[in-house]
Amino acid sequence: MLSVQQLTKRYPGATSAIISDLELHAPSGISLSIQGASGCGKSTLLALLAGFEVCDSGSIVIANQQLDGLSASAADDFRKNNLGVIFQNYNLLECFNVWDNVAFTARLKGNYSAERQQQLLAQLGLSAFSQAPVGQLSGGEQQRVAIARALNHCPAVVLADEPTGNLDEQTSDVVSDLLFNYCHAQKITLVVVTHSSDVACRARQQYALHHGKLCAA
Ligand code: ADP
Ligand code: ADP
Repeated sequence: MLSVQQLTKRYPGATSAIISDLELHAPSGISLSIQGASGCGKSTLLALLAGFEVCDSGSIVIANQQLDGLSASAADDFRKNNLGVIFQNYNLLECFNVWDNVAFTARLKGNYSAERQQQLLAQLGLSAFSQAPVGQLSGGEQQRVAIARALNHCPAVVLADEPTGNLDEQTSDVVSDLLFNYCHAQKITLVVVTHSSDVACRARQQYALHHGKLCAA
């Protein structure tokens, strides 16, 4: 269950709140897409859901945990245990190869399985790169590594910021199919922020962020 009530966030110096009394209620295992004009606050909303940004008011409950009001270290723990986050800029560990990047959170969490990881890399077309330093990969390949890392530790919720933003149309189709199908099969709640209506329409619930609130897309 993902439950957001009256969520409000205003950046210091901004004239109005970027997220304003936003409501979102989704049962576990469902996929949601969020579209909206550039600058409307989509990344901010994901950052609030991931506990990277602190809201001004309202409440966020994910996987039975109240997220607002957590300390930074409690938010770190919460993320490790419950969330897979796919960042727009990937946030890969440059000093590690593909295999160790994808294994990172699963090893930290203690649920690493080489077999599961090998399957995931194969599904994402990354098997041939498993020993390559991530810095040598193209943007699209790094994006797939970030997706594999987020899925590999079996989180309850995956938050994805433009997960296909750097992929060509054909690869985008393959990767978004995999992301949605994987999450539906594993009953992972998936929240995808995207510019692409082709990606958004794969979600069970489709929203647009407008004037700080979500409306049905
Ligand atoms: P989107 O993801 O929809 O493009 P963002 O959430 O990235 O939108 O940004 C929404 C607005 O908030 C933008 O005007 C941006 O400049 C502003 N913003 C984003 N992050 C910060 C920040 N850390 N401090 C101040 N303003 C910010
Ligand atoms: P651990 O030492 O944590 O038990 P493994 O023994 O599974 O990890 O893997 C050690 C290293 O071998 C990994 O970091 C990776 O580089 C490589 N490796 C293991 N299994 C595979 C695989 N199926 N495909 C590619 N590389 C692998």
